[in-house]
Amino acid sequence: MNVADSRRLASSLEKMGFEPSAKPDDADVIVLNTCVVRQSAEDKAIGRLSSLRPLKDKNPDLVINLMGCLIGVRGNDKIQKKFPWVDVVSPLRPRTAAPTALRRLGKSTAVAQTDKQNALLDGDLILPHHEQGKLVSAYIPIVYGCSHACAYCIIPSKRGREHSRPYPEIIEEAHSLVRQGVKEITLLGQIVDRYGLDLPEKPTLAMLLQDLNDIDGLKRVRFLTSHPNWMTDDLLDAVAELPKVCPHIEVPIQAGDDDILKAMRRGYTNQAYRELVGRIRDRIPGVSIATDIIVGFPGETEEQFQETYKVLDDLRMDVAHLARYSPREGTTSARNMEDNVTAEEKMRRFRLLEDLQEEIPPKSTPVTWVRPSLVLFEEKSRGRWRGRTTTNKLVFVESDQDLLGEEPLVRITWTGPWSMIGELAD
Ligand code: SAM
Repeated sequence: MNVADSRRLASSLEKMGFEPSAKPDDADVIVLNTCVVRQSAEDKAIGRLSSLRPLKDKNPDLVINLMGCLIGVRGNDKIQKKFPWVDVVSPLRPRTAAPTALRRLGKSTAVAQTDKQNALLDGDLILPHHEQGKLVSAYIPIVYGCSHACAYCIIPSKRGREHSRPYPEIIEEAHSLVRQGVKEITLLGQIVDRYGLDLPEKPTLAMLLQDLNDIDGLKRVRFLTSHPNWMTDDLLDAVAELPKVCPHIEVPIQAGDDDILKAMRRGYTNQAYRELVGRIRDRIPGVSIATDIIVGFPGETEEQFQETYKVLDDLRMDVAHLARYSPREGTTSARNMEDNVTAEEKMRRFRLLEDLQEEIPPKSTPVTWVRPSLVLFEEKSRGRWRGRTTTNKLVFVESDQDLLGEEPLVRITWTGPWSMIGELAD
């Protein structure tokens, strides 16, 4: 979501005549986009913010603009007082961040024009110049905010209530991205399958997938993140039947124990999640499924953690994004529950799951088991092309051909826990 916001911001800055600078030292405006989902992300944002101070001391005309979840939708006075070298804070509306920063520079004529241009940008996102014709895979946010209020999660208070973008605007943006060379689109939302429930016409994510599938020149469509309670049969049918929609689902379980799930306010049980995974695998053969897990939620006992271990061991998910619980200001769990699993114990549980996950096929699949796969190549770095299979597995290939945006068949010659190496099939 932040990558999508940053790209939109970069394009509005360019529309105002700004150009990217190679180093922060050369910049007139620095916009720092921040994430605070866990304490570690917030610490990183604060660290980066602190590192900008010497630049400001050296060049008092430099405009430092802070945006993203550190500011949230409501603003954050405390931050501005604590970091006086920040010139502008922008609540989470990326298109207004740049104009605000520029007003500080006194470029108000440019800003007045750009405000108007930005209003048009909603449906017609222009990629930043250096990405036009080169960006293979792009994000389109379709649901902003979140109203689910999981006990541990700061996102609803930072990103505001859930609201879906109008259907025609999304379709228009997809066409615009494809015209600029994009081959793969990933639709984004905190609970992406709830798309349209707040709109009068009640469009669905399945309908969007169908319409995106019909766009000439677009090769792949993905979406994330799903919530177990909102994955309808229509959605699974769309993934199973539409050729451009990738067989890859991101659906977090977060914990395996029913009492912990209840305390997290997730709204499903271990059994319901297992049934969902069965339903997804039955309906979409060859699907890859990724999950998220939090270890060390307040009060999580060893037995309760073992439920998480067992469910991961049984279901053998393709990817598990693991996190150690981190209390976030203002959330239900931070206000009402003691963070009583020690840091060492959280780390032990985290490592146990990490080790378990490393053993799970297909990561450790013998090469001979892996069929040749279609790989969409996104960039060449250090002499190797980097791409992904439809199931979102990373593949590296050495080739002198220009493979950017191409989707050839690749024979896999090596598999590792996080990536594969292959060669172009004849
Ligand atoms: N909307 C998705 C969902 O259904 O949960 C993903 C939201 S969040 C950006 C990504 C992940 O961060 C979550 O799935 C969760 O595992 C993790 N996370 C969120 N809050 C956390 C917290 N307080 N401590 C540790 N991990 C957290």
